[in-house]
Amino acid sequence: MKSMIRKCTACNRFTMLDACSRCGSDTVLAIPPKYSPVDRFQKFRLREMKENGENTN
Ligand SMILES: [Zn+2]
Repeated sequence: MKSMIRKCTACNRFTMLDACSRCGSDTVLAIPPKYSPVDRFQKFRLREMKENGENTN
């Protein structure tokens, strides 16, 4: 398996661990997959929710 570089979501520290060795926060893959329908779906939902929220205000 290729090396999977991850990045801390809190301090942006690069690591290969699931948790940051510096602050203990969760890490995410530094290089996202090219094809990610789930991510696109989430972005669409967030955008929709944000627009609806602005309209109600
Ligand atoms: Zn960190």
